[in-house]
Amino acid sequence: MCGIVGAVAQRDVVDILVEGLRRLEYRGYDSAGVAVVNSSGELTRLRRLGKVKELADAVAAAPVTGGTGIAHTRWATHGEPSERNAHPHVSSNITVVHNGIIENHAPLREALQAKGYVFTSDTDTEVIAHLVEEELKSAASLLAAVQKSVKQLHGAYGTVLMDKTDASRVVVARSGSPLVIGLGIGENFIASDQLALLPVTRRFIFLEEGDVAEITRHSVRIFDSNGNAIEREVHESNVSYDAGDKGQYRHFMLKEIYEQPNAINNTLEGRLSSDSVLDETFGNGAAELFKKVKHVQIVACGTSYHSGMVARYWLESLGGISCNVEIASEFRYRKSFVQPNSLLVSISQSGETADTLAALRLAKEAGYVGSLTICNVAGSSLVRESDLAFMTRAGAEIGVASTKAFTTQLVGLAMLTLAIGKYNGLTAAQQRELTEALKSLPGKLEQALTLAPQIEALAEEFADKHHALFLGRGDQYPIAMEGALKLKEISYIHAEAYAAGELKHGPLALIDAQMPIIVVAPNNDLLEKLKSNVEEVRARGGILYVFADADAKFQSDATMRVINVPHVADILAPIVYTLPLQLLSYYVAIIKGTDVDQPRNLAKSVTVE
Ligand code: GLU
Repeated sequence: MCGIVGAVAQRDVVDILVEGLRRLEYRGYDSAGVAVVNSSGELTRLRRLGKVKELADAVAAAPVTGGTGIAHTRWATHGEPSERNAHPHVSSNITVVHNGIIENHAPLREALQAKGYVFTSDTDTEVIAHLVEEELKSAASLLAAVQKSVKQLHGAYGTVLMDKTDASRVVVARSGSPLVIGLGIGENFIASDQLALLPVTRRFIFLEEGDVAEITRHSVRIFDSNGNAIEREVHESNVSYDAGDKGQYRHFMLKEIYEQPNAINNTLEGRLSSDSVLDETFGNGAAELFKKVKHVQIVACGTSYHSGMVARYWLESLGGISCNVEIASEFRYRKSFVQPNSLLVSISQSGETADTLAALRLAKEAGYVGSLTICNVAGSSLVRESDLAFMTRAGAEIGVASTKAFTTQLVGLAMLTLAIGKYNGLTAAQQRELTEALKSLPGKLEQALTLAPQIEALAEEFADKHHALFLGRGDQYPIAMEGALKLKEISYIHAEAYAAGELKHGPLALIDAQMPIIVVAPNNDLLEKLKSNVEEVRARGGILYVFADADAKFQSDATMRVINVPHVADILAPIVYTLPLQLLSYYVAIIKGTDVDQPRNLAKSVTVE
């Protein structure tokens, strides 16, 4: 699930590999390792528990050189984080790195042990090394041995292998975990994410599901899952080289919070006319499909699920269409009823989220009228496999806790509401109003960011807190959920969100002075109801932090801190109110001293189920 970098070159590749790992650090990991083969066929492997920095220091202390090499950051799934479980794993001549999970590792391990292979780690990955070693005994090449081996592997993987007796090549295989080949001049590369390779190339080939490829300095041969040689398109990347750079900011997360006005400008650019959303925004054939759609089924995980929840409010109240939202890992494992003319909408920052991708694939068989993905990564699996795609254009998001990907998803979903709503009773006047509101959004977000100093001061009050409650109503309920998730993720404070009307059905029992209650309160038609809920909390001694429209007339006092958020159109409120909550969790995390960009136990792109 974490990072892979590999290279076949004439020059020494160790620094390229370690730099590549550094650029993938944002994904979250627990250990790192590198192995290189030099021209005399000598393999050197170094692995370290902890950060890439530890590995880089080890590399510097014991000079290692080689023109062919593979490197990995591991996010443990099988076997504790430790040096012996860190990748690369070795079986005499074969060295392997692997992202993902080999589900049938146990029977494979038993069979290989019976043949005399000795395992030195607890990982599922090590079976790949021994299996390929075994297959190589009867195969003509490493490529053929890998092709035979992958047929025996169940699960999700991206894997890269080298044979120390032939340093001229690496062989790679993709099934469920992304891999991208980077093309150089007289040298070629492989990685799990193009960001790792931007210092050495801009030309990329994205491997498809089931592909196996052999990469040498001068050639790339790709075979599909049936073993047929196949050409894959070469893409010229325009991702900024600096995407991996924090610039003036202390953390990527803070940089990405501040990038939101600009990111949303990019998301909107060229997609709105003066009074509606342009048809081509969702790709060719979108208008024909949207005309037919009578129901929307959204599937997503984590933060993306929260954006889907907001979209349900919008699609039903403005878009004139029914909508269900479900967590992808639930949706994929239950038999669900498919409404007639249903559109499947998947939402994922990376486009590789394993459960969301599985849900899309299931839906294809289930009779949906079409599929649309809201995604941030061009060329990702969800984008390739969906009928339509809306690219969020947030730019690379490095912080594990999603910020700008979430708000740009919301913008995409607001545009989807317009695009579908126009066939379901959204009037021309409403369309114009929503379009104008969207155009004013970047400016509103700039204003919301000016609240940072106030929020930073508030965060001090959370230093000794262990729990927090977030409250919202209507389309602010998912924003309360997202606020709670952000706080959990990066400050490790236990936080829950409730629809404010649910308080009296249980959570009121938790209220005391030790339980901060964060409320999102735009000036909408639910305000009066929300105010009553706020009073219920005050009456029980709770301390409130209310993010509210100035017109909502909340007053700060001993038990209530009020932060005035700029006045916005109803449709923009979920997006604008997200920013103060992101800032709150960021500043609380700073006080708690946690690892903001790479919170413990988490990974960025969740390519395992
Ligand atoms: N399942 C493998 C392990 O635990 C790979 C984990 C990863 O994707 O980093 O070692």
